[in-house]
Amino acid sequence: MARMSETVLQQKRSGIRKIMELANTLPNVLHMEVGEPLFETPAHIVRAGCEALEHGFTKYAPNAGLYPLREAAVNRLNRELGLSLAVDNVIVGIGGVEVINCAIRALCDAGDEILIPDPSWPNYETMATIASVTRKYYRLLPENSFLPDFNELEGLITDKTKMIIVNSPSNPLGVVMPAETIEKLVVFASKHDIYLLSDEAYEKIVFDAPHVCALPYDTNGRVIAAYTLSKTYAMTGWRVGYAVSDKAVIEQMVKLQEAYVSSVPSAMQMAAVAAICGDQACVEDMRIVYRQHRDLTASILDEYGIDYFMPNGAFYMWINARCSNSTAFAEQLLIKKHVAVAPGDTFGKTGNGYIRISLASSEDTIRSGIRTLAEFIANQGKMN
Ligand code: PLP
Repeated sequence: MARMSETVLQQKRSGIRKIMELANTLPNVLHMEVGEPLFETPAHIVRAGCEALEHGFTKYAPNAGLYPLREAAVNRLNRELGLSLAVDNVIVGIGGVEVINCAIRALCDAGDEILIPDPSWPNYETMATIASVTRKYYRLLPENSFLPDFNELEGLITDKTKMIIVNSPSNPLGVVMPAETIEKLVVFASKHDIYLLSDEAYEKIVFDAPHVCALPYDTNGRVIAAYTLSKTYAMTGWRVGYAVSDKAVIEQMVKLQEAYVSSVPSAMQMAAVAAICGDQACVEDMRIVYRQHRDLTASILDEYGIDYFMPNGAFYMWINARCSNSTAFAEQLLIKKHVAVAPGDTFGKTGNGYIRISLASSEDTIRSGIRTLAEFIANQGKMN
């Protein structure tokens, strides 16, 4: 066989996918490994998508996205954040995944360096790797309340550093960064003349702390905020997201869009307009359920004295599994107890010893899955 891309050959597979595949070989598994809302997409959004198909939204859309969706996105951000964005500041993409990929590609060349949180969503690593960008990790440690250490960040900067990725509320931690940290991160990016990519995937899923966006702190066009409808509106399969930044950055991303996917399906974009402009009660209803699931999980873990981070946002719980190898732990838990969780080491080196569970699982799954997990952690060593 002819030689394939070395970059891709070297790319390791997601630890979560491996658990999913193993889970598929077993009966009656309680699934808490995947970050997918348990809800169906709200009916008014589905209806808007169907109507769009019936009314001829079946053709290519412009690379940057349909005007009504870009307009809806800027209007709501201007309203919520007091900004004065224009439609040219937005590009629509195939979910958060694609706009983040486009931003990395548009702003970084091969050999440039990018600062990635550890632990964080594993896709950042994959995206940087396939763009031949060097990854440097800044640690989010329990002793710092899982917030960045600015001394460490300063030490990571070189003349090749191009970008820092920030994710609040975070996957996998559920940390919501306070305003002063977000502001300091933007100042840090400005001081070193690098871009700040703010992944806003969980912006609307916050519990006790307000979500703070980096965009209002940006004074010189270095923040790219990446949004998705996937989590907020339970629209993971519709594949719609968008990014907001300086016009010059968006222009470069639009060029990439032509090469990657050309455009996002038109009807999906019209469904996204209905989601953004429609009644937001569905967002609040889902948020309340995630919060109940968080509190239920915490109360079961407390019964067993298991350590965890109480998330302020997103829909995950980061749990100390008291193990030396998270992947082996997750495999054993799955094989012996038929409970699927995401191994912490798949999110970065600092994640080893932890596991992540999804609070977007059903209440029944959480009730029995967390109890089984807690017993498994508590009885490790006593079990074979
Ligand atoms: N960012 C984070 C932190 C995520 O966890 C995800 C999905 O799991 C995404 C972005 C992108 O999601 P999508 O491509 O469905 O918009």
